[in-house]
Amino acid sequence: MIIILKPDSDKGSTEYTNLVEYLDSLPNITIRMHEEIGEHQRLTEFYLVGDTLPLDDSYIGNLPLVERVVRVSREYRVLGRHKEDSRASYFDYNGVRFGQDEFNIFAGLCAVDTREHVEIMMRALNELGLNCTRMGAYKPRTNPYSFQGYGKGCLPYVFELAGKYGIKVIAMEITHDIHIDEISEALESSGNPTGVMLQIGTRNTQNFELLKAVGRQRKFPVLIKRGFGITLEESLNAAEYLASEGNHNVAFCLRGMKTNMGDPHRNLVDFAHVPVVKRFTHMPVCIDPSHSVGSRDYDPDGILDVMHAAAQGVIAGANMVLADFHPAPTKALVDGPQALMMNELEWFIEDLKLARETYLKRVALHDKYFVTT
Ligand code: PEP
Ligand code: MN
Repeated sequence: MIIILKPDSDKGSTEYTNLVEYLDSLPNITIRMHEEIGEHQRLTEFYLVGDTLPLDDSYIGNLPLVERVVRVSREYRVLGRHKEDSRASYFDYNGVRFGQDEFNIFAGLCAVDTREHVEIMMRALNELGLNCTRMGAYKPRTNPYSFQGYGKGCLPYVFELAGKYGIKVIAMEITHDIHIDEISEALESSGNPTGVMLQIGTRNTQNFELLKAVGRQRKFPVLIKRGFGITLEESLNAAEYLASEGNHNVAFCLRGMKTNMGDPHRNLVDFAHVPVVKRFTHMPVCIDPSHSVGSRDYDPDGILDVMHAAAQGVIAGANMVLADFHPAPTKALVDGPQALMMNELEWFIEDLKLARETYLKRVALHDKYFVTT
């Protein structure tokens, strides 16, 4: 059960104290308070976990300060969509809105290698009007002898260049909780020129201690990737781990499933799950066509499989696209063979916009034929 208080409810008031005392007195129930401080108002919610069945919704709904009571289904208590649940399906971070009605493109380097490549990438994004990117500093590699990423050493110039080229949000994978502090310190010592969305990679989707640590911090939003060999439900529960620890600013990324049934693609593209994730949860849904397809192969018309997969996800309603680019793919230290090239960036953006417009037209078509209630 979620108890949503009226905006800006005063935590120092007698009503608030009485409410908390009442909730604390409920048997076999634990309470978690969640606070969202927005630009215009402060929202307080209480999550009641345990034996909530005997509770009287209308009694609680009429208590002072209470605006609404939402009965949640067992699954995905915080991130899930529940009956009569009108909580927002978006969050704002560093001036950028992420949500189920938004569309954001994160084109960038799979792994940071040189300052020069980072600068070429960011300058190109800026010229084409994009303000998000991906930059890998901590790379989880299958082979222990492969390049592991430059780690905190590259952060100062990555953040400085992001500031120079108006990049507001960098998706950056972390593999250990100490990376949160390293990113935070590097941002602060460079004067916070940009923002970071912490990425949980597919290999860490069920690293529960990492999820808890990332969920406990509220400074950075999180992009969690679907686990490549587990069910969608298991991956959505992994996302819920983040939220259950307090961080509700979570986006969910589909990136293909590991099976040779997807050959010759690197993974079996799973973007038909975009609408499923939107139906089950409030999370903005991201797609990663680069790690799904894993090559620069193209069809007889010359359109790359990566672009086809991206368009499929976007036309099905995806809200974010994460894609690998590189100024010199043959020199890339990670995933060069799947990287799109700089002279393909404008084409890629235009192609995605076409798919996005088509999705919006499909929504309008639905509204034309079905009267919404
Ligand atoms: C990545 O995005 O760089 C990455 C390693 O992806 P995944 O976790 O999906 O393999
Ligand atoms: Mn990669």
